[in-house]
Amino acid sequence: MTEPTPGKAEVAQLIQIMRQVCPELQIRFKDEHWFWRRCPKRLRRAATTMFTTVWLSSRKRAESDHWGTFYTLAHEFVHVWDWVTKPFTFVLGYLMPQILGLLIPLALLPWPSPWRRRLEMRGYRMNMAIQYWRRGTITSGMKRWVRQAIRGPLYYWMVWRKEIAVEVVDRAEWEIKIGVVHRLHPVYKIVARLLGYIK
Ligand SMILES: [Zn+2]
Repeated sequence: MTEPTPGKAEVAQLIQIMRQVCPELQIRFKDEHWFWRRCPKRLRRAATTMFTTVWLSSRKRAESDHWGTFYTLAHEFVHVWDWVTKPFTFVLGYLMPQILGLLIPLALLPWPSPWRRRLEMRGYRMNMAIQYWRRGTITSGMKRWVRQAIRGPLYYWMVWRKEIAVEVVDRAEWEIKIGVVHRLHPVYKIVARLLGYIK
């Protein structure tokens, strides 16, 4: 008998639940589309949710690292949920303040965006929570990765000050460790249940 592939069943379960929430959900691969293949590497390697389509970096990567895919899909599930339930708030929050560039060109500069930061931290809190639910710890590597992601070019430098990145990541860690995180967003509860952390 062959050993079950770690994480494969959980990914299948997660996709099934995502489809219940969002029947139009599509999962596609950036390396199979001409547009993404022309984008800078850092954009190609990161997952992106556009409306109801989740773009993963590559099919090969998704099928060779199921737990990695689980983390990514669960993060993107938060964005899909936010888009499905509050599309206007989601799009406006994500594009602020740069969308004001339609009126004031200066707004196009990479000004800090607490709105986009809040939306993205909902996704990154998911990554941190899964690690805690599975392994009982949130590693310093995970926290560093999140701080760097929210301060970097991937989200157009939405956080300028290091102290803010430290503060939001530490707060997320605290919410996870005291066990209140799954009350903060419906997707956290779904994933916590899927992983057997709560009933
Ligand atoms: Zn995200």
